[in-house]
Amino acid sequence: MPTLLLLPGDGIGPEVTAQVRRVAARLAPDLTLIERPFGGISFDTLGTPLSDETIATALAADAVLMGAVGGPQWASAPRDKRPEAGLLGLRQAMGVYANLRPALCFDALAGGSALKAEIVAGLDIMIVRELTGGVYFGQPRFIETLADGQRRGVDTQVYTTSEIERVSRVAFELARGRRNKVTSCEKSNVMETGLLWREVVTALHARDYADVTLEHMLADNAAMQLVKNPRQFDVIVTDNLFGDILSDEAAMLTGGIGLLPSAALGEAGKPGLYEPIHGSAPDIAGQGVANPLAAILSFEMALRWSLGRDDLADRLFAAVKTALDGGARTRDLGGELSCAAMGDAVLGAL
Ligand code: NAD
Repeated sequence: MPTLLLLPGDGIGPEVTAQVRRVAARLAPDLTLIERPFGGISFDTLGTPLSDETIATALAADAVLMGAVGGPQWASAPRDKRPEAGLLGLRQAMGVYANLRPALCFDALAGGSALKAEIVAGLDIMIVRELTGGVYFGQPRFIETLADGQRRGVDTQVYTTSEIERVSRVAFELARGRRNKVTSCEKSNVMETGLLWREVVTALHARDYADVTLEHMLADNAAMQLVKNPRQFDVIVTDNLFGDILSDEAAMLTGGIGLLPSAALGEAGKPGLYEPIHGSAPDIAGQGVANPLAAILSFEMALRWSLGRDDLADRLFAAVKTALDGGARTRDLGGELSCAAMGDAVLGAL
């Protein structure tokens, strides 16, 4: 029987994951749900944001679904005990190197985008961001004081062939199940890692994925094209830094942070980590007004990418679409529904 580890976390995390629980009970009654403390709540109760037992449970599960972590009450905790450190630790322990961030515009919400509805209607992009390498992890990294009294900060952008190849492979595989096009983004005009990135993606494409259309685009141009003509993209693959920025930009095309799920995948057969892209929203936590759809759609991704249940994922996605088409709106979408009432709307559509 497959198991899903739920990590509700902090702030609105427990509120939105409670709706995932209800949906899972209806849609996949065979799924075993386990729950563990994670983030700030784990620091408060266990003295660490990520306990060894939570890591072991995550590695033994088929998928892990997290709500959100963090909040002002932990801002003064030691750096390695902050809720966010727990999240980085979990990603590292699970070895999830490919971050899948869909940017998908539901027709019913096209009017809520920052762009004109005719530019974003029908938008369906998948951004694959490299998650465990690049400039966020590269060594050396330090701030030093120079002899003349100035300070100098150093980060290192570094990628190996295998790091580039494995994340690109995920992108090509995904594209085959979609519109069969990959856009690889880097800065090969000014960066050595960008040059290597382009060479490795080109070679992998020729070797194993010649049936997929591959295009290369400089990351700054991709930022412009995402706003100018976003529907030209199918799958975008890029490094950790550019992916961080481009995926947030793409998210804003779709009309709301409360709607957007994500997945982080590692080697085949290993559990994936699924989470809404939003944070713990301390400003609305405890009020029961958070939009649970990002968490529910994260569960939809878990069904598809870790639990092998595309059929249930399709049903859940259709139910979310039906609920939105029927006018279900939480406050962030300009409506009145509570978090639980949005859960009701999805359950009703199921
Ligand atoms: P946030 O995403 O928590 O909130 C930004 C804004 O969006 C807020 O106004 C919030 O009310 C709103 N919002 C977010 N999710 C919503 C939802 N589901 N429904 C309705 N409205 C929603 O970002 P922030 O305020 O910058 O960060 C708050 C805390 O969350 C910080 O401690 C931060 O470190 C943490 N954080 C955690 C994660 C994570 O767990 N993966 C991601 C981002 C931020």
